[in-house]
Amino acid sequence: MNEQGLNDAARRAHIISEALPYIRRLSGQTVVIKYGGAAMTEEHLKAAVMGDIALLHYVGVKVIVVHGGGPEISAMCKQLGIEPQFVQGMRVTDEATMRVTEMVLGQIGKGIAHWLGTHGAPAVGLSGKDGGLMRAVKFQGEADWGLVGEIQEVNPALLDALAKDGFVPVVTPVATGAGGETYNINADVAAAAIARRAGAVKLLLLTDVAGIYRDFEDKSSLIHELSVAEAEKLIEGGVVSKGMIPKVRCCVDAVQGGVDKAHIVDGREPHAILIELFTDAGCGTMIS
Ligand code: ADP
Ligand code: MG
Repeated sequence: MNEQGLNDAARRAHIISEALPYIRRLSGQTVVIKYGGAAMTEEHLKAAVMGDIALLHYVGVKVIVVHGGGPEISAMCKQLGIEPQFVQGMRVTDEATMRVTEMVLGQIGKGIAHWLGTHGAPAVGLSGKDGGLMRAVKFQGEADWGLVGEIQEVNPALLDALAKDGFVPVVTPVATGAGGETYNINADVAAAAIARRAGAVKLLLLTDVAGIYRDFEDKSSLIHELSVAEAEKLIEGGVVSKGMIPKVRCCVDAVQGGVDKAHIVDGREPHAILIELFTDAGCGTMIS
């Protein structure tokens, strides 16, 4: 190796060694990652996320993945002649939409588990209905969202069993109702509820924006850190809207439920997960 090559190798080794304090802190702990958006559809981003999760797995972090798939559900609905409809960022889910949702999401979950496996992290795609993982009731609000559910109970026994044997669970966000019906659960909300009950130290929500903006039109107004009280004010004041509402609300819920920190992270950034977990810099918006 020439001198330039040696310098380069030393620099790389130094960067890797900088991750040690973070790895020490996180090894053996549970981290929940909501995976969706561009990070799920663009091949180079997908490969980076899979590699990042495999790396976490190898350094002993117990990763639980909860995935989304909104655009894929909408695309399939349109193919089948069902027009997607949203109210306050949540999909209005009639029975036909629910069937499509479960089918499309199930396929996505199994696909993610397969890709994690090819990156060296043995993974299992499972439904939120499996092993009594998530029970829900109909979500009640100002509108009728149909089969959109509100989580009543999370039983993490199945997740614990998988983690104990070294498998990464990949959870499809659907839940069972008392009458055996299936509910559609917002993936951010499912991830937060699972993070609480699984005793996670961190919740990472990968999305298609850099984080929460104080003014969405002003890209210099990105909020890096937010307290629970401030987050609630942002919702009340209408600063956040659409899909950001459940995101911020469930981050608050997770933190109030004992999760140390919740992060809204830019999934368009390659290796956003490693940047957030293993560097001082971090990225996106942190709620603590
Ligand atoms: P995901 O698929 O990651 O769940 P969503 O579309 O549900 O993404 O939610 C993120 C969206 O929330 C952003 O793309 C943006 O359009 C919207 N949004 C509303 N208010 C804000 C805000 N203040 N800061 C950032 N994004 C916001
Ligand atoms: Mg969303």
